[in-house]
Amino acid sequence: MSLFQYPKSKHVRKFGPPTYKHYQTYKRWLQAEFSRVCVYCRQPDSSSPNLNFGVDHYKPKGDSRFGHLLCSYGNLYYCCGSCNSRKNDDWPTDEKAGPYVVNPCDHEMADHLRFNVKSGRIEPRSSNGTHTEKLLQLNDVESIKYRNNTFVIIRALEAEIARLDAELKESENCLSRGIITQAEHDADAISIRADRDAHQCVIFAQNGGLPLALSRKQQNYLAPAKP
Ligand SMILES: [Zn+2]
Repeated sequence: MSLFQYPKSKHVRKFGPPTYKHYQTYKRWLQAEFSRVCVYCRQPDSSSPNLNFGVDHYKPKGDSRFGHLLCSYGNLYYCCGSCNSRKNDDWPTDEKAGPYVVNPCDHEMADHLRFNVKSGRIEPRSSNGTHTEKLLQLNDVESIKYRNNTFVIIRALEAEIARLDAELKESENCLSRGIITQAEHDADAISIRADRDAHQCVIFAQNGGLPLALSRKQQNYLAPAKP
């Protein structure tokens, strides 16, 4: 899945965690469940500190009709602080008519929202998508700027990594032609690889590619695969 792109098929939950008394306990489960990305705006939680990612109650916890779903895993989503507070207690007055904020388990997200990599905007493609985009302000100026800047940073670092790869190759060349010693080449290689790893780490943080190890408990509570 590319950065900020919405999934084309519905998400099937892979965890079936035990029941907890406090819904906040599900945060780590949801982080792994939804690959550490806000389900609504697709921002990775590794892209910036203090984003205040947390647990969203899809059927809002502020609505007394949904009090029984406070700690119901199927009603919980991983989302950034901004989307969480903007979504708030949104729920349609007429459940038949909607509109609904779209979520990745009940909706094929790409049918409702599309990320345009050229403009940095998230484009609605349905009435539910329009409602989601408006309510969560997915195209506020700062969000568009952030998405565009992210691609600038990633492209610059990818170019730098390509340059470092060429530098390493050149060092190997010089070694094979006897222009530099093995010790000189080894020193070059260590420094080049350290720079490369540092750049790659920033790219992963920006694009959400940092690996997330599952705890033993999470592995034990993986939902059985559907036949
Ligand atoms: Zn968000």
